[in-house]
Amino acid sequence: MFRSLHMKLTMILLLLVTSLMAVMGAFLATSVSNFYVNSFYEQIDDVFSSASFFSSLRQAAAQSDGMERVREMMDANAGSLGIDYRTRNYYILDADGGYLCGSDDEGGGKLESTPNLLAAELGKTGEDSDVTADYMDAAIPLTAGDSGSIACIVYILDNKDTVSNLNSRLFLIIIQALVVGLLISLLLSFLLSKAMVIPIEKLTAGAERVASGEFGSKLPVESTDEIGVLTGTFNEMAGVLQETLQAVENERNKLDTLFLHMTDGVVAFDHDGLLIHSNPAAREMLRRELDSSCTYDELFSSLYPFSQMLALQRPNYAEGDMVVEGRTLELYLAPFSDQERGGVLIVLHDITEQHRNEERRKEFVANVSHELRTPLTNVRSYAETLRDAGGDIPRDTADGFLDIIINETDRMTHIVQDLLTLSRLDTGNAALNLSRFDFRDAIENVCRSNALAAKRRDQALSFRPDGDLPLITGDRSRLEQVMMNVIGNAIKYTQNGGHILVTAGTAGEQVWMEVSDDGIGIPEKDRERIFDRFYRVDKARSRESGGTGLGLSIAREIVERHFGVIGLVPHQGPGTTIRIALPIVPPQEGERPDR
Ligand code: ADP
Repeated sequence: MFRSLHMKLTMILLLLVTSLMAVMGAFLATSVSNFYVNSFYEQIDDVFSSASFFSSLRQAAAQSDGMERVREMMDANAGSLGIDYRTRNYYILDADGGYLCGSDDEGGGKLESTPNLLAAELGKTGEDSDVTADYMDAAIPLTAGDSGSIACIVYILDNKDTVSNLNSRLFLIIIQALVVGLLISLLLSFLLSKAMVIPIEKLTAGAERVASGEFGSKLPVESTDEIGVLTGTFNEMAGVLQETLQAVENERNKLDTLFLHMTDGVVAFDHDGLLIHSNPAAREMLRRELDSSCTYDELFSSLYPFSQMLALQRPNYAEGDMVVEGRTLELYLAPFSDQERGGVLIVLHDITEQHRNEERRKEFVANVSHELRTPLTNVRSYAETLRDAGGDIPRDTADGFLDIIINETDRMTHIVQDLLTLSRLDTGNAALNLSRFDFRDAIENVCRSNALAAKRRDQALSFRPDGDLPLITGDRSRLEQVMMNVIGNAIKYTQNGGHILVTAGTAGEQVWMEVSDDGIGIPEKDRERIFDRFYRVDKARSRESGGTGLGLSIAREIVERHFGVIGLVPHQGPGTTIRIALPIVPPQEGERPDR
């Protein structure tokens, strides 16, 4: 109930007014009381300090009818002494305090022994005041002649009823003032609430709206006072907060998009090792669903303990490798934020391809060295034999040796040429010389070139196009090189008297060509690898027929540069079928699909 500012203000004002009135009342009551007491003793002092009055009084008291005369003199000075015969009276007492006469006979019989009265009985003037007492009095002894004996005591007693009445009236006035003051303070608190509480309530409502993320409406600045300044500052603060939140939101969206589309995996764990973030790449690499129940320990504790990672000082990080379902992942682990609130961020990088490429590169270099070493050894040994024999060697033997040297040199040249072609295709330096040419004409041309080789081996080489073939766009000489290789292989790997059938046709936006033979075929286990560099099913046979093991790799590179496909297709019976499919018009730069 007293929690609202309005209530607090009202209560403060009421308390203020009440306490003010109480203090004022107490002050007034004390002042009035003091004033009354002081004026009582001053009046008595004024009257009795007059030497003529006092000596007249003593002389009168010494007479036989002294009491009557003293009484008359007191009545005569009643005004100066403030004696009103009701609240203040005088009494003439004998030396022992017994009542003789006075202005109040009734009271005179019931007089109490007060310290002042007792002092007077001992012969001293008793006019000490006692503010706590409910009366005030003064007792003046009148001595008779020179003997010093007390003839009578003049005793003046005031029962303070006047002060009490005055104080009661004052109290009433103060109560009335208090009621008026309370009403005024209620009014004031209402006005104050209008001036202060309502703007503060508006400010509070605005702050609540901002806290709930509603930044749109600005608070109206209705005054130039502190509350107005506070409202203005609040509006500015809300604006800055909105901009900051917007910037943070943008930054977060940017990061979210980055995480979503980046090829590297990212996972983050909180201080307790629970997963707080993962991106699709990480799920793909780790080959599992990642949710908030995943922990660091179940995924990566084999690399580094979590506590060790948290203890790392930024910008330090740890690296490690792990293998998941045959794929090699490279990991970078780093702590983020501080030890209390931070966690660990892990970036995963799939290096399987990199590993594979590295392996391929090593294998390739080993293959090249091996392929070149054999003919080089042959060349060297035949050349040495010729040199060592001098002129002793028969002519046809020497010619035979020289033929071998020339053949081996040709082989090396062939290998180097093929390697150069591959290297140019790899580095993209072998620009395609695109033109529109007749696909059928190109196949016929290649078949014609191979006709003699087939005839030598008594093989039937035939071309059977499936309907009309269109003009296609491509590098004719390179595509003819591919056809030469495939048809040449069919001749090479088919026994004498075998059959080689070349077919071709169109399928949608593509043309295709298939070369089938009934030769030695390719075992199932080798079918995957015959397009690899230097891969040969039967090394001896390939070398014998002048093969380098690079033909099909070059063919695949060329076909893929034309956005086509080359591969083995199922074949009925003994032999092999290789199919090449090419787009009639290769896609332009920019619209080409990813390879
Ligand atoms: P090569 O120069 O050895 O012929 P290629 O790259 O052209 O090299 O062919 C790779 C391997 O594929 C050959 O060594 C061969 O073993 C196999 N091969 C290719 N074509 C055929 C085919 N028509 N029949 C059987 N084996 C083939």
